[in-house]
Amino acid sequence: MLKLDKNMKVGIVGLGFVGLSLTSVLASKGYNVIGVDIDKEKCDKIRNGVSPFFEPNLEKVLRRGLKKKLIINNDFSLIEDCDMIFVTVGTPQKPDGSIELSMIKNAATTIGKILAKTKKNPIVFIKSTVTPGTLQNIILPILEKKSGKKVGKQFGLLSNPEFLQESTAISDTKYPHVVVLGGYKTKYMKKAKIFLSNLHPNVPIIETNHQTAEMIKYANNSFLATKISFINQLANICQNISGANIDDIAKTIGIDPRIGNLFLNAGPGYGGSCLPKDVKAIMNFSSKIGVTPLLLDAVEKSNQQQIDNTIKLIEKNCGNLKGKNISILGLSFKPKTDDIRDSISLIIINELLKKQAKIKVHDPMAIENVKKKFKNKITYSNSISDVLQDSICGVIMTAWPEYSKITNRNLKNMKKQVIIDSRRILKNQNLNCVYNAIGIGN
Ligand code: NAD
Repeated sequence: MLKLDKNMKVGIVGLGFVGLSLTSVLASKGYNVIGVDIDKEKCDKIRNGVSPFFEPNLEKVLRRGLKKKLIINNDFSLIEDCDMIFVTVGTPQKPDGSIELSMIKNAATTIGKILAKTKKNPIVFIKSTVTPGTLQNIILPILEKKSGKKVGKQFGLLSNPEFLQESTAISDTKYPHVVVLGGYKTKYMKKAKIFLSNLHPNVPIIETNHQTAEMIKYANNSFLATKISFINQLANICQNISGANIDDIAKTIGIDPRIGNLFLNAGPGYGGSCLPKDVKAIMNFSSKIGVTPLLLDAVEKSNQQQIDNTIKLIEKNCGNLKGKNISILGLSFKPKTDDIRDSISLIIINELLKKQAKIKVHDPMAIENVKKKFKNKITYSNSISDVLQDSICGVIMTAWPEYSKITNRNLKNMKKQVIIDSRRILKNQNLNCVYNAIGIGN
């Protein structure tokens, strides 16, 4: 096998969760990395060793990289002599659920102009999640038009979807479970395979075409969403069977290797920056090509129903919510991140505000992000006891480990001792309170 040339230059376009994780990991290993982003303020922070968002271990790895050969800038011309260019810009959703491609089109336009000037034959890897056909029908034509060069001849273009999870982004970037490369079987594919198999020894590399690689990413995320909606549905049934416990059921079926134990944690619905938008995007895409996405439609509806069920559970315990103090514990879409994009917690807060409840919130990491959204419409707390003070109901939305340590002392200044535990992290705590948990039958 060819040895990796560490003098090779790697450009990364878009320094969000995916791009900054990749930038930091490659740079910490000693690669020549140039990370670029349109957001100058973000670049300035990163250059000073500060991550613009919280991700465990990211800053440590970033700082290690900055001591080596890492350059961070918003000047895109710096990627002109890169051998590999990874595109990691956002692909959010439009109001109708379809994919918003403007950022990736802009990035492709910029990269195309850079390709026009370069003397190298770089490979452009698209790591952003895009619907099938986007590389072939949108990105490739932009790159060829703006560069005046031919793909497969003067430059390579590969689909290389990303599977990392926030909260474990650094280890997922270092040790992915799979590498997918979609594109034509050219010398560029061979070179990419060598680069990535050196970077990730013993990790399976799946070589396929563009559209299949693009579809793999959606298959992955829509399957995970389906698994969550499935277990949530069962949790709702359990909740109405006295004594039934969804966790024992999940643990047991998860032992069956055909099922697997991950993504079987019942809760208030899936949220986050990927699952909701990717399920919607593939449903929208599917409908457009004439295939009714029946199953995914049910997955989506069931996710919405889970949000409604959580609200109903609060109302069942608290009655009319007008003017009542409700505490929300956990704002990020999962523990160990400050990402609040499509967090179910925020949707619940909005619903409770519509019902004129008074909301006080706590989160170990995400408070600052939530302040930007809700401003003075809600109250912010920096301790568990404080958020619960004078409240008639504490709702645990995110399974932060600190919430599993809640004791009667934390509850003593509540007006009414009622806990709604959407994650069942207090189920063994024996608290002096009315305790309701999603998936546990009373
Ligand atoms: P993000 O929003 O955190 O970061 C995107 C970055 O791209 C931002 O810093 C933004 O300023 C920058 N950007 C936008 N337009 C640009 C341009 N024209 N040129 C350069 N930079 C530009 O996004 P993310 O969460 O890192 O996701 C990136 C992609 O990876 C998305 O397609 C997403 O679906 C996919 N993905 C995300 C995750 C995840 O857990 N976050 C996991 C797997 C895949």
